[in-house]
Order: sequence, then structure tokens, then C-alpha cells
Amino acid sequence: MQQKIKNIREKFLREVEETSTPQGIENLKIKYLGRKGEVTKLLKEIKNFSPAERAGIGKLINDLKKEITQSIQQRLESLSKEVKEKKGDITLPGTFSSLGHLHPLSQIINQIEEIFQRLNFRIVDGPEIEDEYHNFEALNIPLDHPSRDAFDTFYLKSKEQSAKGKEVGKRSERLLLRSQTSPVQIRVMEKEKPPLRIISAGKVYRPDATDASHASMFHQVEGFMVDEEVSFANLKGILSIFVKEMFGEDVQMRFRPHYFPFTEPSAEVDISCLLCKGKGCSACGNKGWIEILGAGMISPRVFERVGYDPDKVSGFAFGMGVERIAMLKFNIRDIRLFFENDIRFLQQF
Ligand SMILES: [Zn+2]
Repeated sequence: MQQKIKNIREKFLREVEETSTPQGIENLKIKYLGRKGEVTKLLKEIKNFSPAERAGIGKLINDLKKEITQSIQQRLESLSKEVKEKKGDITLPGTFSSLGHLHPLSQIINQIEEIFQRLNFRIVDGPEIEDEYHNFEALNIPLDHPSRDAFDTFYLKSKEQSAKGKEVGKRSERLLLRSQTSPVQIRVMEKEKPPLRIISAGKVYRPDATDASHASMFHQVEGFMVDEEVSFANLKGILSIFVKEMFGEDVQMRFRPHYFPFTEPSAEVDISCLLCKGKGCSACGNKGWIEILGAGMISPRVFERVGYDPDKVSGFAFGMGVERIAMLKFNIRDIRLFFENDIRFLQQF
């Protein structure tokens, strides 16, 4: 009997050592201490012994029972502690990941669009892959214009071109990455009749070498209005509202004569330097003025392309670089910062 008790004890110690889950320990408890358990069976055997022997054997079995009970209790406690450490303390405050926010360029685009929406302009999107006709020809940019050169535009090979290894079709059907947002003017006017008040923001592409003020991809906002009797005064009125909303009430605006193929007359629009308020500083090249956009009255030749009668309708158009506006507004000196995805930079906006 003593050998039997010793065997059960050793078996239990081995099994409890090998068990690593609380459920396994519970099973051991039933196996040894349950109603049909090993220890219970031993206790039932006591009656087979003589009264003189019973006391000694009874004590051995009870010691075993006590040892097993304690061992199971300890093992359960240490296991539940391990589980808690693995899972962490659920009563501690949680860890929070930061939510992030819109990219500064998206913020500027939203702000510009919102100002023009309040002036009854409608947001329209245009394709980033354009054809030569919409990007140049319809905008009155002739074939020999320098901006149509392959050094100033990303041309794409069409499927047919790649297959045959040479150019096919008319030159104006060649595909390209749009170099400006102005083709949106053509796409809208081809489909719709005046009155139109459109604002369109998006990416444009030019094979410029990247430096502090150039990137091969950047963003533009195009705006135009077409109706009967739209005048240059309307252009000036709309832009002066925009400039004050965007840069502040005390900002001055001026128009300088300029040339664009798709507007006549054309102008470049400057605002008084935000840093020196027009006195002259290094940011504005001591001029006191900073160029922010190009604008003008839409050329009659553009209207003819889309089937409008230039004698009946008139309109203005303007275009601006989003990065340029953002750099002015946030006083950023290097355009590359917008595209490096450096959290330390982006977090500041
Ligand atoms: Zn200045």
C-alpha cells in the first residue's frame, strides 16, 4: 500500500509538471481528487486494512491529498499570473494611436474650393492622362510652342505605338500626362453650355529637375466663368474676394500684363508680400510683391474650338499652383518637404 501511495504521488508530480494550462490542472484535480479520483480510491481501500494499520495508512493518504491540493492551487495561481502578464493588465489605460489629419496640400485645396463654392463655383475633376488636343491644341497652344516639347511634357506611348514601335495616328491624339489643369476648361465646355462657373483642382506633371522650387508632379487649381457679358472687372472682383479670404483682409493685389495662348488679354496676379507687407524682403526678392496666379479673358479661339459663339459669350479663366500658395501661407521654403512624407513636417499643419 505504501508503494502504491508513493507511485501515485510520483505520477501526480510528473503530470502536474507537464501541464501548462489552467484547464489541464482542473482535469488533474478531477483525476486525483474527484469522486472517482485516484486519492479517493485509496481512501476507500482503508477499510481493507486492520484497525491497527488504518491510522498509519490514513495519515499517508491524507498527507498525499493535502500535498496534491496545495500543488494544484499553486500551479493554478502561477498559471493565471502568467496569462495576466502575457495579456497585460486590462485595468491599465489603453494605448492610443494618433488619428492624423489631411495633408497640408489637401487642406489648401479644400480651402480654395470652399471659397469658390461660396461664390457659386462648381467643383469638376479632369483626367490626369490627357491627349495632346485637350492639353494644347484646343487651348490655342501651337505645335511649335516650347511647352509642347518633349522636354517640357511627359508623353505616353499608346498601345498601338508600343506594338508597332512607331508613332501612329494624328499627332494631336498622342497621350500625355497633363502639364496643366486648363484642359478641364475644354472638357467642360465641350459637354455643357454657359453659364459656367467651374473650379477644378488636381495633379499636373512636368519633367522638371527636382529642386527647392520645382517638382515633376505638383498641383494646380483651375477656375473659369463663362456667360454673356462676363468682363475683366468680374475677374478682378472674384479674385480680390479670393485673395482676401485666402491671405487676409489687408493683402493688396495687382495685375501685370502677361501672355498666355488661351487668354486675351492675360495677366499675372501678384499679392503684397505676406512677410514684409510690401516693404521688400528676401522672400519677395525685395520687390514687396509675390506672384500667385495667371489669369485672363478666355480667347475667342478657344470658344470656337468648343463650338461657342465668341460674339455671344465671354469668360475669364485663372490658374494657380497649390504648392506655391501653401508655401506662401505656411512660409515653407522647399517644395520637396510636401512629398517626403516626413511625419515631423506633416504634424505641424
Ligand atoms: Zn517681402
